[in-house]
Amino acid sequence: MPYTADANRYTEMEYRRCGNSGLKLSTISLGLWHNFGGIDTYENGRAMVRRAFDLGITHFDLANNYGPPPGSAEETFGRILKDDLAPYRDEIIVSTKAGFYMWPGPYGEWGSRKNMIASLDQSLKRMGLDYVDIYYHHRPDPNTPLEETMGALDHIVRQGKALYVGISNYNAEQTEAASKILKRLGTPCLIHQPRYSMLVRSPEERLLDVLQEEGIGSIAFSPLAKGMLTNRYLNGIPADSRAAGPSQFLKPEELTEELLGKTRRLQELADRRGQKLSQMALVWVLRGGRVTSALIGASKVSQIEDAVGALGNSELSQEELAEIEAILKG
Ligand code: NDP
Repeated sequence: MPYTADANRYTEMEYRRCGNSGLKLSTISLGLWHNFGGIDTYENGRAMVRRAFDLGITHFDLANNYGPPPGSAEETFGRILKDDLAPYRDEIIVSTKAGFYMWPGPYGEWGSRKNMIASLDQSLKRMGLDYVDIYYHHRPDPNTPLEETMGALDHIVRQGKALYVGISNYNAEQTEAASKILKRLGTPCLIHQPRYSMLVRSPEERLLDVLQEEGIGSIAFSPLAKGMLTNRYLNGIPADSRAAGPSQFLKPEELTEELLGKTRRLQELADRRGQKLSQMALVWVLRGGRVTSALIGASKVSQIEDAVGALGNSELSQEELAEIEAILKG
């Protein structure tokens, strides 16, 4: 059966303006870092993307190296576009990134003009696209002049291969410097993608202030702390979870008794709100309007439904915020 998107897809989702730009993003975005690789089941990934789009999620986040194997998540997404979403291309924001290791030799990672341009050309081929909506430098490069990396991003926009540019994992000072260069070049930085969740608070130190000053939007990655801010691990490690699987990025050792104790107390507070812990963790990241979008991962359709369902109960009272702080401090 050919896919037809839900006619009501724009009724539940909230859209926020990304910094000072004209672009709005869904407050929940879907990342394809895990569960969309060549090792994963295509139909499951396809069902998740379709359900996400039906629920008003317009933004899908990729990177050159997502898989495994590296590159295969972009291939999967290209296949989903071809099978289902191509008629909706103008309703979708696709992002990809370059900067982490992708191919051997001196040009396959970091931030040279050579890497940034070659990698995007590869990504476009894998996804079957003429352009991406957002192209990111994935991590700061201590050995390449920032002018060169930002110059490559500006060039790519002028070539029409990306509509906007962003940076990820840059600290506050690096962000300020990058933003100044991009403004001077005439391609302002649209967005920053930091890791941010109840368990990772570093963007609050200065980065979020810099983003506001510079008019840059933000999309918080791993807002559920890779699954630790959910009910996933409260009764052991399920066989189908990230911590049990081949991913190197969530090790069972991270699930300490101290963490689980906090998670249980957060779960009790979420219960009182009539919400799942994962939902409370998402509205917490989105509180106060400084974060444009929460960038979740998912392994099943129901997790995407949970995330969007969080928006129906998105206010956290001062008392609840204080209770969360107290729990996190232990
Ligand atoms: P999350 O913190 O949202 O973790 C996602 C995982 O949490 C899911 O895979 C699932 O685990 C679990 N989960 C999600 N919803 C629920 C639920 N309702 N109930 C129970 N468990 C749930 O994000 P990710 O770490 O996956 O990262 C999200 C995206 O951020 C990536 O796909 C990528 O696009 C981006 N990213 C960017 C980085 C960068 O350097 N710029 C680095 C890392 C991520 P399980 O699989 O076990 O079911």
